[in-house]
Amino acid sequence: MTPVTDTACLVEVFSSIQGEGLYVGCRQVFVRLAGCNISCQYCDTTESFCVPEVAKIEQNSGKRDYLAIVNPVPVACLVDHIAGLFRSQHHSVSITGGEPLLQPEVVAAIGSLREKGFLIYLETNGTLPNALDKVIGRIDIVSMDFKLPSAMNGIEYWQQHEQFLQIAVRSQPFVKVVLSDETTADEIMRTTELIKKVNPAIPLIFQPVTPTNGVLAVNPQKVLLWQQFALNRLRDVRVIPQTHKMMGQL
Ligand code: SF4
Repeated sequence: MTPVTDTACLVEVFSSIQGEGLYVGCRQVFVRLAGCNISCQYCDTTESFCVPEVAKIEQNSGKRDYLAIVNPVPVACLVDHIAGLFRSQHHSVSITGGEPLLQPEVVAAIGSLREKGFLIYLETNGTLPNALDKVIGRIDIVSMDFKLPSAMNGIEYWQQHEQFLQIAVRSQPFVKVVLSDETTADEIMRTTELIKKVNPAIPLIFQPVTPTNGVLAVNPQKVLLWQQFALNRLRDVRVIPQTHKMMGQL
């Protein structure tokens, strides 16, 4: 039973193009919730770490005509706004962050839009399995990151990722791994073995890191080698960079 809440700590709501993962190119309503429980070296959404005084809510799809609403935002008002934006031809509602599962009751409230035929897509760092368990019945697609120790100052999340993926298979999950200059062959091996153990049909997306702010690009030869390695264990392994940055989209 998901606890009831009336308010959400929100950063923004807007319509844009999914730039990462299996559904790249799809038009989505993005709901960015505030707060994150971990700290990745390559994070590009650090503005979502804190709860802003006012959240921004787009009025018309793609117009960037934001309405400012004081945080915390009433959940009923948030769900109404999402439904209004969604009407203009969207693939799904992407609940993102930060880490949205820090507010499982808000995720569940947005997930209730499934009853109106909306597809619900959750973008998560895959470290909060108990929270996922509370909301998985209201999620259609889980875009789950694996956080590799080399990108997390040595902190390991293998155990949390395995528990998380065991729950995520009740929806349609895929796993995304950011590859950087510091990624190791051992991390690729553990990633593929873990996914294979849960279900080798779960798609795996390798996302070469976007080399900005001093972050070094991954060696292209390594990417070829690691995809080949993973394809020997899993059925669907793709390499897709962050495309929204190339397109100048949010
Ligand atoms: S989980 Fe996402 S929002 Fe949190 S630090 Fe990592 S990249 Fe940033």
